[in-house]
Amino acid sequence: MKRIFIALTAAVLCALILTSCVSPEPYDTGPETMASGTTVPETTVPETTEPETTEPETAEPETEPPETTEAETTVPETTVPETTVPETTAPETTVPETTVPETTAPETTVPETAPYENELGFKEDLSAYEKYMDPEDRDAYLLLVNPDHPLGSDYKPSDLTLLADRRGDRKDQLRLYAAKALEAFLKESRANGCKTMTSVSAYRPYNTQKYIFDNEVKGYMEEGMTEEEAIAKTRSDTAYPGESEHQSGLAVDVLDYDHTLSNFAGTYEAGWLAENCWKFGFILRYPQDKEEITTYVYEPWHLRYVGRYHAKQIFDMGMCLEEYVEYLANNP
Ligand SMILES: [Zn+2]
Repeated sequence: MKRIFIALTAAVLCALILTSCVSPEPYDTGPETMASGTTVPETTVPETTEPETTEPETAEPETEPPETTEAETTVPETTVPETTVPETTAPETTVPETTVPETTAPETTVPETAPYENELGFKEDLSAYEKYMDPEDRDAYLLLVNPDHPLGSDYKPSDLTLLADRRGDRKDQLRLYAAKALEAFLKESRANGCKTMTSVSAYRPYNTQKYIFDNEVKGYMEEGMTEEEAIAKTRSDTAYPGESEHQSGLAVDVLDYDHTLSNFAGTYEAGWLAENCWKFGFILRYPQDKEEITTYVYEPWHLRYVGRYHAKQIFDMGMCLEEYVEYLANNP
């Protein structure tokens, strides 16, 4: 019982600390994440405390045994009248009884606290997420979105799902499979030292992207540029409406609390993400050495869901999505 109380107290303290640490900073100020400036702090990390409450169960059975030995020591007292010596020898003969039945019970609960292991080496038990990370319909999420393959203004996925693990008052959504796979990714990232990694931008409607783009054009025109110049300048760092992968509901930007888009590259979190995201069905959509093909600068925070089968191939072959789609076309 003490352990449970301590665990609960620790969880409450952690929650209080996290609440006070949540940054109100809007992270959408980067090149293609300017969607909303409405970020309000809120505690978004309640799930990490849940597993801890199950651990104390194994300790409870052990507290019972002492009571049975105490009762037995009182029995010999009925022989006291003669001498004081016999008392010390009598209780010892009853000792073996107490050890026999109790050793078997506690052993069955031990495996619960052991780290979850599978072929991918996950520390968390992610078995419930497996069907989302590795979808049965392998090719359902290979949609290519870029300036040569824009989405229509009316394109909106029908299975958008609110992310369970998100920041502040953000209402980030992704398509169902991507949302669940991201949940698994974030759980495992926490177990591997990325303590505060969360989504900072996910599905973005066509009209939101249009608003962002038009606003930037307007700003440049107010500085004296012609409309043509302003559009060209804006296109250099902001996706044209329909050309943003965020409209697909399969792309998400993740950051930890200590970094922004401008200094995330080279961090421990960025490294862990790059090495492990394929296990959850994600790829780094805009790699450092593929800028000429993707037409996007290196974005170490931008994940794209494609499902584990294709994500692993893309990771192993060191391709970007444009190259991989072409590779599949030539190697059916
Ligand atoms: Zn992005």
